[in-house]
Amino acid sequence: MGGLCGRFVTPSIYKKNKPQMSISPPTTTTTPATTTRHDWTRAEVEAFFALPLNDLLFEAQSVHRRTFDPNRVQLSTLLSIKTGGCPEDCAYCSQSVHNETGLSAEKLMEVQRVLDEAQKAKDAGATRYCMGAAWREPKDRDLEAIAMMIEGVKAMGMETCMTLGMLSVEQTLKLKTAGLDYYNHNVDTSEEFYDKIITTRTYQDRLDTLSRVREVGIKICSGGIVGLGEEEGDRAGMLMTLANLEVHPESVPINMLVRVEGTKLAQANALDPIDFVRTIAVARIIMPFSMVRLSAGREHMSDELQAMCFFAGANSIFLGEKLLTTTNTAEGRDSQLFAKLGIEPMALECPQPKALAETVAAE
Ligand code: SF4
Repeated sequence: MGGLCGRFVTPSIYKKNKPQMSISPPTTTTTPATTTRHDWTRAEVEAFFALPLNDLLFEAQSVHRRTFDPNRVQLSTLLSIKTGGCPEDCAYCSQSVHNETGLSAEKLMEVQRVLDEAQKAKDAGATRYCMGAAWREPKDRDLEAIAMMIEGVKAMGMETCMTLGMLSVEQTLKLKTAGLDYYNHNVDTSEEFYDKIITTRTYQDRLDTLSRVREVGIKICSGGIVGLGEEEGDRAGMLMTLANLEVHPESVPINMLVRVEGTKLAQANALDPIDFVRTIAVARIIMPFSMVRLSAGREHMSDELQAMCFFAGANSIFLGEKLLTTTNTAEGRDSQLFAKLGIEPMALECPQPKALAETVAAE
């Protein structure tokens, strides 16, 4: 294995933040150079989606092998630290007060309970601990407890991630001071389809929060959900938005809609699994240094589908039996699958993409 921590890197052809056309859609299965671009057009991204599946997978796996060890997957665990009662109207969400899912609103979890859960996750192999609160935005009075959670989890030797809704500049700075590594804030879908799913905050609100987080030096986790009733072009648009951010998100979670009873999307048509694989593959190709995470919906995926997703470039999963309010994979299933596929957990010491990019650019 070559590269840093098992990543496969070609330093001489990697130029940070310089738009280059070396990954060219579609038609070819030759080996493209691995570069980052931030000027993707919708037509270019849609052209990747339109490739024959074998060509798309070959392209994605080729990129993946140059930027990561293809047989290592990063493990994160997600805990809901404040469940239910969210004033936002996300059509898919069990925690929105606009959906009738019967979920009751809870208060922010006590710090010690969060730390106890984090220790269990660490013992199970997680290297990143993600904490989510069902808020439109945090209240300033909650930030002291949030900071204690971040500090406590970091003291255990894990990376920290928070998802708390929109943030002001001051709140972002407080999270940075507490040592937060990642902030999750998904764009969810394409800008054009967005208002079919959420009306209580705008796409621009989301981009503004992402920009504040980036400005203070917290890494970004941002992705979306597929199977919301969107078109393939919307999946392309969502990935284009993420890839055209000034710096690619370090983590890109791709969620398959979990159709929760009582939400507006409970009866949505299931997405064809191949379309899900295509979304993963395109994310890998246009954001070559990002961790692409298989997120919600994994418990309903067969081993074969997950294996295809790993081949398409997914290299991160959520560990544990629960994801916020929905169930995740059963205990033991992931380790059996990893053993079957020859996949090993990624070590924490791996430099994150931006750090790696800077290292490579400096060489
Ligand atoms: S997805 Fe997040 S912001 Fe939207 S309703 Fe659910 S908890 Fe609130």
